[in-house]
Parts: sequence; structure tokens; C-alpha cells
Amino acid sequence: MTDVTVTPTATAAAASTAYASALEVIGAVEPRVAEAIGAELADQRASLKLIASENYASPAVLLTMGNWFSDKYAEGTVGHRFYAGCQNVDTVEALAAEHARELFGAPYAYVQPHSGIDANLVAFWAVLAQRVEAPALAEAGVRHVNDLTDADWSRLRHALGDQRMLGMSLDAGGHLTHGFRPNISGKMFEQSSYGTDPGTGLLDYDAVRARAREFRPLILMAGYSAYPRRVDFARMREIADEVGATLVVDMAHFAGLVAGKVFTGDHDPVPHAHVVTTTTHKSLRGPRGGMVLAQPEYAEAVDRGCPMVLGGPLPHVMAAKAVALAEARRPDFAGYAQAVAGNAQALAEGLTRRGARLVTGGTDNHLVLVDVSGFGLTGRQAESALLDAGIVTNRNAVPADPNGAWYTSGVRLGTPALTTRGFGAAEFDRTAELIVDVLGATRPTATRDGSPSKARYATADGVADRTRAAADELLAAHPLYPGLDLA
Ligand code: PLP
Repeated sequence: MTDVTVTPTATAAAASTAYASALEVIGAVEPRVAEAIGAELADQRASLKLIASENYASPAVLLTMGNWFSDKYAEGTVGHRFYAGCQNVDTVEALAAEHARELFGAPYAYVQPHSGIDANLVAFWAVLAQRVEAPALAEAGVRHVNDLTDADWSRLRHALGDQRMLGMSLDAGGHLTHGFRPNISGKMFEQSSYGTDPGTGLLDYDAVRARAREFRPLILMAGYSAYPRRVDFARMREIADEVGATLVVDMAHFAGLVAGKVFTGDHDPVPHAHVVTTTTHKSLRGPRGGMVLAQPEYAEAVDRGCPMVLGGPLPHVMAAKAVALAEARRPDFAGYAQAVAGNAQALAEGLTRRGARLVTGGTDNHLVLVDVSGFGLTGRQAESALLDAGIVTNRNAVPADPNGAWYTSGVRLGTPALTTRGFGAAEFDRTAELIVDVLGATRPTATRDGSPSKARYATADGVADRTRAAADELLAAHPLYPGLDLA
């Protein structure tokens, strides 16, 4: 059987020594921080983590971030820095980019973004630079932005600020950065969104095409945070080409499934999109961070990410990206990715068999979206009741959600983290049983003045404790970082 976990026995003892020493050094300066780090490990070990966007990085990845690379300034790109003495940063940045290109089969990779949101901002500015700024400069006969007259500059600002983005709506599973107002993308672009079919909950490509024809976006955004199905990126590219849009795919959630070849052919965004953005810490199981992959025509514009929209690169994190991407290139990562998807199906089947209603009726990626209105609960009530029982999830809107984005009617469950602990289909079926037990035993309660509440709830006596004990049993059988001992 493939080992899908992250602490090979041979390195557990060395990692124990490294962490024990690190905590001793930290504790000598601020013991409360050392204690909090130890407590965080204990908490992570003790909960059934079903947050779809989280994972457990390997000790190798985590240790790579705690060193003197953190002290380096390295603005610029490999071999072209604004600071002297960046030869070792060049080594790790080039390595991370090489691993990314090889892993995803991408012509170009930019590994400086500090997070997924930053990666998207880099991508959006790159598209604006390539598609709007460069032609406008050429038309004005200007070679560089610094040579613009005030009149040119004001025309250019207008042209840059008059662009459109079409992305998946938030309640269908899209992300805030795909043109929505709380994020700068909603201010940079005039936005319109496509949803999912009200009957099936699935993406309706004909509807996307019709909206794109009407709206004529500069950027067609694909990718999601809470859509439990594969996307046909070949079709999305056809639509983008038909309306002259640039296809940007945000694979933050499912990059691990692309890396592990669960998503191939039309479902692999890399050959189809002009630009692909991602986080490195979700299903990809690396350090907190972001990355942009691009077709060659966008490479130069993407390279301008720092200082255009990014702060100086974080060399210690780029080094950790290189380590994580090297891990993802090993054959056992494909086994992990297959297990993540297989486990999501086991979880979905276990929930459905026990009467839970799932958005789209199932999953073919790493996440499941449960419509908890079937239990008479809001997402907020369900999330809280599950947390009381030691099950960590997050509430999430469902399509056309009557409870809005704060209370919601759904909870999102993901399998990447517990799969890293070694959970298989049987453990996820048992997890489904525990979830349905808790939700089935929970009822909304009224506020003190008797009016209905979307937040208050009560779970039948004993259920949370019983569930916690059952979760502890599952967790004990699949320890996090086995052999890693801080004592
Ligand atoms: N893109 C998508 C699709 C996401 O789901 C998220 C985070 O949840 C992000 C981008 C943002 O990532 P980060 O939190 O690293 O900025």
C-alpha cells in the first residue's frame, strides 16, 4: 500500500530532535510562544480536521521555513536582483520553479506570491499589462510607462480601469478574488458571474458561453473554493477563445489533484489555461504560499509581480515550496492524491446513505458540500455543533442560499488533511456516521426573547461527548506525525 502520510519512520526521530531543540531555543526567549507552538501541535493532533483548504505539511517542509533565508531581501528575479548576495536565494527559487514546471508540465512558473490571493493579483495585473497596457503604450508610441506624458497616463489609467471579469458566483463555489467587491478584483474589474444549474447543481457550460458572449470579459476565471466537481477546462478555453478572453484558472483547492494526476486531460487546467494560479498549502501539502503558472506570452508580465503588487519575496518559503514540490513529484504523492479523491467519495456515499443532502449529489474532487437545511439547521449551527463534538469544518453557502454568506445553509468538508493522517474509506465512512449523528441530534433554539435564531442550537445530551470519544479512537489509530515526540 502507498504511504500517504508525511513522516517516514526514518525521519521521525530526527524531526523530534529538531523540534525539541527549536522549542528549547525559542522558549529561552519567550516561553509562551514555545508553549503555544507545542499546544498547536497537540490541538491539531486531537481534532478531526475536515477543513477542505487545510492539510499537514511534512516536517521537511516546515523545517525549511525556520532558517536564515528569512533574513534575505531578494527583490527581482533569479539572476536579476536589486540586492547583492542573492546566489543562494537564486538556487532555491530556481529549484522551486523547476519542480513546479516539471510537476505540472507548465512552460513557466513564478513562485514568489505569498498566498493564493497574491497569486491572483499577480495574474490579473499580468493580463492587464499584456492585453491592455502593452498595446496602449504601443499605440501611443511609448516604449516604457515611465515615458508616458500626463495625458497618455490618464488615457492608460482609463483603459486599465475599464475591463471586465467573468467568474463563478460565490454561492456556486467561486472565490472572493474572482471579481467580488470585498476584494480588490471587484474594484479593478467590472464583474459578472456564472452560476450552476439550479436542478443539478452542476456547471452549465452553455450558460457560461451565453453569459461570456453577452458580457465579453477580458478575463474568464475558472476554479473554485466550494464546487465539489471537476471542471472541463478544455470547454472553458473554447469559450474564452470564442469571446477573446484570457482564461485564468485558480486551482488553489485542487492543485494536489492535478499534481497527483487525478485530474488529467480536459480536467487538467495547465495545458488549457493561459494563466494558472494556486496556493501551495491546500491539497498540494506545501508551505503557506502561492504560485503562478503561465504560457510563455504571459511570463514576462507575471515576472513583474514584485514589486507591482507583491512585497519582497520570502526566500525561506520559496525554499519550502521547492521541498514540497519535490515531495509532490515522488510517486507516492499520486497515491496520496488518489486517496484524497477516493476518500471524498467514501465520505459522500456515507453521508448520502445516512440521509444527508449533498450539493450536486456527490463529489469527484476532494470536497463535499452538505446542505444542512435538510437537518433543519443553518450552516452556522451545524458548524458549531460539529465543533463541540471535535469535528472541525467550515460553514459555506450553497447555491441560492436563503441564509446568505454569514449563516449559510451548508458545511464544506474536505479530505486532504485526514488522508495525510492515513484515513481510508472505512474511516471516512465512520466519520460520515459521526457527522450525521451530531446533525441529526441538533435542533435550532430561540433567542432569549423567543425569536428564531440562525446561530443558537442544542444537541441532545451525551451526543457530543460520545462523538468526541469515537473521533478520538479514529485519531489514535492514525496519529499525526507518528514518532514525532516533543518531550
Ligand atoms: N483562491 C481560492 C480558490 C481559494 O479557495 C483561496 C483560499 O481559500 C484563495 C484563492 C486564497 O488563498 P490564500 O488564503 O492563500 O490567499
